[in-house]
Parts: sequence; structure tokens; C-alpha cells
Amino acid sequence: MKKTYHIITIGCQMNKSDSERMANFLEELGYETTEEKYKADLVIINTCGVRQLAEDRIYGFVPRIKKENPKVKIVITGCLSGRTDVQRRMNDYVDLWLLTKDMTKLAEFLNKADKRELPDSYLKIKPKYDSTFSALVPIGNGCDNFCTYCVVPHARGREVYRPAEDIINEVKELVGKGYKEIILIAQNVNSYESIINYELSITNKGNGRKINKKINFAELIRLVNDIPGNFWIRFATSHPKDMSDELIKALAECEKACHHIHLPVQAGDDEILARMNRKYTVEHCGLSWRKQKAVRRISEVGQRGKFRYDIHRQIQPTARYGCAENERRRFQAGEEKSRIGFD
Ligand code: SF4
Repeated sequence: MKKTYHIITIGCQMNKSDSERMANFLEELGYETTEEKYKADLVIINTCGVRQLAEDRIYGFVPRIKKENPKVKIVITGCLSGRTDVQRRMNDYVDLWLLTKDMTKLAEFLNKADKRELPDSYLKIKPKYDSTFSALVPIGNGCDNFCTYCVVPHARGREVYRPAEDIINEVKELVGKGYKEIILIAQNVNSYESIINYELSITNKGNGRKINKKINFAELIRLVNDIPGNFWIRFATSHPKDMSDELIKALAECEKACHHIHLPVQAGDDEILARMNRKYTVEHCGLSWRKQKAVRRISEVGQRGKFRYDIHRQIQPTARYGCAENERRRFQAGEEKSRIGFD
């Protein structure tokens, strides 16, 4: 009888996508999925460290799962997996602390390392997509920005991007299967950079000459847009400092790109933005937003406010620049809050 696994995913789209890859990886190792988390042989919790509520959830159900089924192997992955304070608190219940980028180490942990050749990057693992309509396609992992309140660069490491060919091949395959929505995801999609290798066509001067060209996110959007088929493109998350004119132009010209931008402004005050290490000003966001509105009708912007005492100023950009939607959340990451000295 096959051993069973159950994955609990908390947090962002990146975590959801990582769990899809983990699911397929486990199935290739001979495991099968089960809905019964208290009876599974293996329970993987893909954690989020951005909000306290998300963190608190694991303190509740991890001990309960172990109590109900003492033989279960529990793996913690995602943003909390590298946090030493969480490890100290939960070590009695957890069998493996696994950084997301080390996903293939699951094979060794499960004594299945000899079962298959392991890829050098977890992004090369094929996903088991949750939907037959909408697909999350990661274009990279990690972050170089080190915003003062955020655990992601520490938990996921520095930015690593997938080769454009891999992304295009994945999208082509999805479109061929009838997927209608392609969501390109990374912590900072618009700082994407990769080398693309291609051969000049017979009609060009180079005649079969191999070309290595560095491409950015604007060019990647254009390449995905050129894939034949009836589908649309979304992406998340974009960083305001990397919202270039070239990208805005590409979005205006690519008919498959949705009229929707999620732009995490984070705060409506330059001093707060500087203390967050966001590397842009409110004016920069406003200018970028006006440019985007000028080239096409964009219907929504997300703004994640972080500081309770500054909430009235967070609202300002939304009102000032006429965004359709404002998303505010209270700062809850207690650890990071004390680390950067806010009360
Ligand atoms: S850019 Fe986003 S993922 Fe990177 S450190 Fe800042 S908030 Fe975290």
C-alpha cells in the first residue's frame, strides 16, 4: 500500500505554487495524497511568516496532528522553516525543517533519494496544478530587497530566476491543455532577468547563429503574449521601484495582459517608506500610477499598509491617485516589529 501525504498551505500564491510542485514530487516518490490530515503518513505545512495570525495557526494544529497520530512525519517548510525561535518552540513535534529552495531534500528524508534523478533547482519540478482553468507559473524565487519588516529574503534567499525557455515551455503546455489564465509569480516579478538562448531564423542575417540575450520582465511578458492561444496573463507581485516605462509600454501593447496591477505601495509617507527600506517615494508611485493609467485603463491597485499609527497617511495615495481598490492590513509580525524598533 502506498504511503500518504497531506499538504497544508498557508499564505501567498508563491506558497500555493510551491505546494503544487511538492505534491507532484511526492507522487513521483511513490506517495499518494489524502484529505485526512490526522491519518496521513506525512504532513507538510507550507508556512507564512508575514502575519502573526498565519504563524499562530501552526502553534495550534501541529501539536494536535502529532498527538492524534504520533507516527506521522511532520515537515515544516515555507517562510517559518528557517526561524530559530519557531524551531525552538516546535522542535518536539517537527521531523524536518525544510527551506523551500531545498525541496528536493525531501527525497533523502523519505529514504527515496535513489528513486529518481534530482533536479538542481526545485523550480524544475513539474507541478500538480490545483486548477484546470488558472495556473500559477513561478518565474523566480527569493528577494534581494530586504525590506526591514519582511522575512522573505532570509527565508527564501536571494533572487533566482527561471530561464525564459522553461517559463515559455510551461505556458505553452498549459495553453495546449486549455488553461485560460496564466499567472506569472515571484516575490518581485518586475526585477526578472534571464538569459534567453535562441537561433536567428533563416531569414535573418545571422542564419542559424546562436544568440544569448539578456531579457527583463517587459520582454518576458511580450514573449508569453506571443504564444498562440486564447488565454490571458496576470502577474504578482510587482515592486513599485521596478515599474519601468518599458514594462508599462509592454502591458499597454500586449493584448493578453489583464488590465489589473497589484502595486504594493505599503505606506503613504516617505519617512515610513525609508524606514521600511522600500527604496522609492510616494511621488514615484504616483507618477508610475499616472503613467499606467495614461496608457490603458487599469482597474485596481493593492496597497498594503503596515503601520497602525500612520493609517490615515496610508490612505492618501489611494485617494490622491484615484485607485479603484485599497487594501490595508495591520502590522502583525511581532518579531520583525521589535527587531526594527517600532512600538
Ligand atoms: S520586496 Fe517584498 S518580498 Fe522582498 S523584502 Fe520587501 S516585502 Fe519582502
